[in-house]
Parts: sequence; structure tokens; C-alpha cells
Amino acid sequence: MTRNVLIYTDELANAEYTPSHPFKPVRAKIFLELLNRYYHLHDDSFKIERPGPLNEELLYLFHEKPYIDMLRKANDGQFEPEMLAVGLGTEENPVFKGMFSLALAIAGGTYRGAMMLFDGDARCVFDPVSGLHHAGRAHASGFCYVNDIAIAIKALLPKGAKIVYIDVDVHHGDGVQDAFYGTNQVFTISLHESGETLFPGTGFEKEIGTGQGRGFNVNVPFRAGTDDEVYLSTFDAIVPPLVKCFRPDIVFAQIGGDAHRIDHLAHLNLTNNGYKQVIARINELSPRILAMGGGGYNVYKTAALWALAWSALVGAEPEDKFAGLVGGMMYGPEVDAGSLDDRPFVLAGPEKEMCRDHAARIVRYIRETVFPIHGI
Ligand SMILES: [Zn+2]
Repeated sequence: MTRNVLIYTDELANAEYTPSHPFKPVRAKIFLELLNRYYHLHDDSFKIERPGPLNEELLYLFHEKPYIDMLRKANDGQFEPEMLAVGLGTEENPVFKGMFSLALAIAGGTYRGAMMLFDGDARCVFDPVSGLHHAGRAHASGFCYVNDIAIAIKALLPKGAKIVYIDVDVHHGDGVQDAFYGTNQVFTISLHESGETLFPGTGFEKEIGTGQGRGFNVNVPFRAGTDDEVYLSTFDAIVPPLVKCFRPDIVFAQIGGDAHRIDHLAHLNLTNNGYKQVIARINELSPRILAMGGGGYNVYKTAALWALAWSALVGAEPEDKFAGLVGGMMYGPEVDAGSLDDRPFVLAGPEKEMCRDHAARIVRYIRETVFPIHGI
């Protein structure tokens, strides 16, 4: 069996929204360069998969038709004022030529990855351009037009697959939460910077699902400034007990790199090391895993974080094939951003205490309200 699959096409990696837009698919290309540099990819256990676009019918597993009609219309790049009503044509979600085709190409990758995992064709699929967790049923949001995650999960549910969704992107996974808020068939967990200080302003601990879904949606909002130590101990207190109890067949993990401390769109203080440890912990809980790239707005840092995630997922330590060459090699404009190693960072003083107290309160709340629903 091919154990590890990378979803990748040059067309997708070369795409962009608009030149100044912070969401950069080119991260996928830099990521692949790092994989080639640090890992041995050319054995039987590894494969690059190049999927085609999503079948448009599958969009309606999650999205509403009038919204999709509007997206299709926007594909020629012509903005019309009515588009604003569904979140299109803003600075955040611009209208540009080929946008609908790009959304279908991204969602096609996620869907293909999900099916490969379900069919037993892979143990781990990594799709760096996917994970557009903010897209709503009938609106674009947070750089996301089509919710590739919700669609792929909804396609698997009738097959009887038990799915856990874990989102460690620094932003709350609101679109995915919304898709499964009333069902106990999918367990969704999002860890993120609190909505008090960050987009999209949701994802508070009290949002635990409704009806049948009560207790099957967990939010862990961190205080701005939270470091590796507080993040990891909070993760350990909440996530493993719940996932072990639910016993998923496949874990969908949105592993955005924007919780890193140098990301300029958010305010958490994770380092490379903390991020890698989080991914390793998620991997331990995952019989099969679809890792989706999500956010991350320092292009080089995010590619480096994904390379570390790759290490954790496939169980291979990075080895620099270019080490010792004259002049060495550096990635990106900043030495720090391109390196796989970070200097350790530990928050101290009153700010640390506030982050710790905040996280302790969240842990207490979830242990008191959600754990009993699952008999723990
Ligand atoms: Zn994000």
C-alpha cells in the first residue's frame, strides 16, 4: 500500500487570488521543495496524486444553489454589486478570473484524498492547498469560497465512516462547525485564538453542538499570547480523551500554520517545536489522516511548518541533503522563517499566568459539560 500521499499540482501551486492577497497557494510549491530537500520521497510508500476538479454536483452536499450560481458567475472576474450580499468582491474574498475553477480544483483534491483514505489506498494524505474552513453554505468568508472540508466529510458519511475533525489553524473553524453542529456522526474540535481578539469572532467554549450533536462540537479558544507549553497541556487535557472515546476511522486535520508566533494575522506564540508536537499528537490519535494546509501567512514559515508536520505524520526525521555544501542553502528572505528549527520561546510573568488561567478555565468547562455526555 502507498502509505503517504501528497496531493499536488503545479497549476494549483501557481494559482493566486490577486497579487496582494495574503492567501498564497505557492506555499505548496515551497513545501514540496523542502520535502525534496529533507526527506527521501522516492520509495514505494510515497506517491504524488494529481486530482482533477470536484464534480460540481458534490458542491450541493454543503452549499446552496443560488450561492454556487453566483460563484460560477464570478468566474470570469467581473464584479457585480449583488455579489457583496454573499461575501464576494471584498478585499478579503475578491472576485477574480478563474476563482470558481480554483475553488473546484482545491475541493477536488480534498475529496480525492478523503476517498483514497476511505478505500485504504493511503494511511496519510497531505493536501497543502486545502482546508478552507470558513466558507459558509451560502457565503464566502475569510479567504474561503467553497468548503472543501465539509463537502468531503459529507461525502464519506453515507459510507459509514466515523470522522473526527481537528482544526489547529489559529482561526476558529466556523464553516465546518456549522456543517455538523446538529449531528453526532462527526466530532469537530477547533483550537484557536479566542474570538475576542481574532476573526471570525466565534468558537467560544459554550458552542458545544445542538440536538443530537450536543457534545460533539468542542471549541478551545486560547488567550492571545498563548505559548507552546500552555497550548500543549490544554490539548492533552481535552483532545485525546474525546477522540479515543469516539474512535474515528479517519481524522481530518486542518493544520494551518498561522498559530506560529511570527504570523502577522494572529497573536498566538507557538514555535516550530510546539506545532510539530501538536501534529504528532493528532497523528497518534488517527488510524488514517487527511492533513489539510489551511492558513499561514508567512509563506516560508508555513512551508517549513508543513515540512515538520510531514515528519510527524510519516515518522521520518528531516535530513538536510545540502548540509556542508559551500555556502549552504537558505530558504526565503529570512533565515529564521526558512529554517526547520526555531529558537525556543517561553512566555513568562503575568501574561503567562493570564494565558494559563484562561486555558485552565476552558479545560474545566469542557470537562464539566462535554466529558459527561461521553461517559468520561
Ligand atoms: Zn487561519
